[in-house]
Amino acid sequence: MFCAAQAGRRGRKVALIEHSDRPGRKILISGGGRANFTNLRVEARNFLSANPHFAKSALARFTPQNFLELLREHRIPYHEKTLGQLFCDRSAQDLLTLLLTECSAGHVDLHTSTKVTAVTRDTRFRVETSRGPMESTTLVVATGGLSIPKTGATGFGYDLARQFGLALEPTFPALVPLTFTKADAARWGELSGVSTEVIASHGKQDFREKMLYTHRGLSGPAILQISSYWKPGTPLQLDLLPGVDFSETLPHEARKQLSLKLPQRLAERWLELEGFSQPVPSVKKIDTRLHQWSVTPAGTEGFDKAEVTGGGVSTNELSSQTMEARQVPGLFFIGEVVDVTGWLGGYNFQWAWASAYAAAEALSVG
Ligand SMILES: Cc1cc2nc3c(=O)[nH]c(=O)nc-3n(C[C@H](O)[C@H](O)[C@H](O)COP(=O)(O)OP(=O)(O)OC[C@H]3O[C@@H](n4cnc5c(N)ncnc54)[C@H](O)[C@@H]3O)c2cc1C
Repeated sequence: MFCAAQAGRRGRKVALIEHSDRPGRKILISGGGRANFTNLRVEARNFLSANPHFAKSALARFTPQNFLELLREHRIPYHEKTLGQLFCDRSAQDLLTLLLTECSAGHVDLHTSTKVTAVTRDTRFRVETSRGPMESTTLVVATGGLSIPKTGATGFGYDLARQFGLALEPTFPALVPLTFTKADAARWGELSGVSTEVIASHGKQDFREKMLYTHRGLSGPAILQISSYWKPGTPLQLDLLPGVDFSETLPHEARKQLSLKLPQRLAERWLELEGFSQPVPSVKKIDTRLHQWSVTPAGTEGFDKAEVTGGGVSTNELSSQTMEARQVPGLFFIGEVVDVTGWLGGYNFQWAWASAYAAAEALSVG
């Protein structure tokens, strides 16, 4: 929608094809219904990609401030929640209305409930749809990833990339809750609903945010963030007492002190399971264990629960300036379908806006 609007406003005749009965369904459920539409601090390190440099050019040419100008123009109130994350004050509908209004201003021809069945290319692209064929000199693929199929997500963009001979990076659920093994579910499952601040790390990457115990495993921002970096079969390190030195606590006070530093249910379960009954044998041991809890998840909750899809169309295939396929002039890939995956915090939308803008700029030159 953003690319269509920008290209339309620059004088291109644009048809926007959407197979759902309405566009932007994912936007409406994003950010808990308030759309975390960007982040005040956006850098390349906030994105995963086989080529971490690829996103830099587009992100530099369309910044969070550029998107905020648009929000101000449309008089949409917003606020910073935490860590630079910007949300709509009222609802994500404001963001969708902005995009639709921009599309109208760009005279975009919006075709909803229209399924694309095939794409061929001769001198022009021919797009076969459930409502008949369409032809154009350029085609922008913005079909998103595989996450949350009920919002309209399909793997169509990847199929199209393959059809045109473009390489793909393997796709995987990202920003996704992790599941416990059976043994860990039996140990920790009863803590479902308990939330605590942790440092979650995997390799060199770490995130200090809240973690939530669920019946099935671990969730919350810290886990969603680290899940994008996690590799199946490997352990995660969790510091359950970030910044707290527990080692100097007097043994007879350990139980009481732990309950002050951790949610009570968590503290009690921890002491019980680790065999640290009163009197606590070694506070140093508790300190080490709590700072270095190692968990090997059984898996993830999969694409049904993943906020985004990692991997996608290889950035080697695309121009970082324009998002155009190097080998297929006129064919562009933008947004989540590309192998650029943002952290939690508005980064995925910012990538969608920035890559859309880069393509729209190129389209208006062509
Ligand atoms: C629950 C949830 C919450 C999220 N919250 C946030 C957030 O707060 N902040 C943030 O930055 N990111 C968030 N994200 C991620 C963000 O929504 C996506 O990264 C972003 O929408 C990607 O934009 P896109 O245009 O590439 O793809 P999408 O927004 O997925 O749009 C793709 C569109 O293509 C359509 N489509 C797919 N296949 C076809 C086909 N074959 N023919 C025609 N149309 C097709 C789909 O119906 C869809 O409308 C969230 C994601 C989820 C699932």
